[in-house]
Amino acid sequence: MLKQRTVREETSILGKGLHSGNRVSMNIKPAPPNSGITFVRNDLSGKPKIKVDVDNIGDGFLATTLNVGRIQVKTVEHFLSALYALGVDNLIVELDSPEVPIMDGSARPFIYLLRRDVGIKEQKAAKKFIKITKRVEVSDDDKYLRVEPVDAPRLLIDFTIFFPHRVIGIQNYLFEFSTRRYIEEISKARTFVAESEVKRLWKKGYALGGSLDNAVVVGDFGILNKDDLRYENEFVRHKILDIIGDLYLLGSPVFGKVVAYKSGHTLNHMLVKKVVQEKAYEIVTLPLEKGEKIFNFKLEPAFFTD
Ligand SMILES: [Zn+2]
Repeated sequence: MLKQRTVREETSILGKGLHSGNRVSMNIKPAPPNSGITFVRNDLSGKPKIKVDVDNIGDGFLATTLNVGRIQVKTVEHFLSALYALGVDNLIVELDSPEVPIMDGSARPFIYLLRRDVGIKEQKAAKKFIKITKRVEVSDDDKYLRVEPVDAPRLLIDFTIFFPHRVIGIQNYLFEFSTRRYIEEISKARTFVAESEVKRLWKKGYALGGSLDNAVVVGDFGILNKDDLRYENEFVRHKILDIIGDLYLLGSPVFGKVVAYKSGHTLNHMLVKKVVQEKAYEIVTLPLEKGEKIFNFKLEPAFFTD
């Protein structure tokens, strides 16, 4: 069986929160098998814990927030996406601020930290997967999102975005998950915002830590960042990065086909909650040979030097 994973040793990373603008230190530590991903707010008395769980999903406006009572951890999605990709099941994540650092707006810094710098180790328990057993769909106005069963153990994501903006427009991408494909095709895609939106967000107290260093800013006639887009269709690829992070709110990787049209965090959250409510899944394990082909985290170090 493919085994569960955690990090080899403790490590930390410094950055700032995209929405709060606060400087934040994130400390990650190994955790025992079957314990899942747990955030700890080290800055609060009693160091409250917030487990990654569908029951703890909070606000979905512009980011994924986890709540236990009034205790929050914001903007967890890019980090969770990187954990999904590297097959990390169990982890303690300590923060000294309410928000996960945004880094460069993609999952790449987290991938580097986990895979190249600290390393990942296998644990004794079998890795669990959420196998979708019936179709579940959610929608809001013209946006929709659904997940349906597939006959092989794989995750397919067919994502279409439509932004009435000449730089973005309609983009579609069909992604079949594997660690290698995620790192190559998805991990570098940055979050994005329209220049015309930025001042409105600042007034509402969002994106206070946002800059050209951690987001693609789309002006009327092109992007404002000095460096080019990292992929021609970076926008739709980032939406796939986001939804992989949101799927991981289920606590395990998913086997199924996801079809998304203009979906965002709010719809993503509705879908994972509905999958649980409707018991539209079963928990399965995966033979080692098949599992290692999908979660091939033992990629050669040169793969990470880019
Ligand atoms: Zn994002």
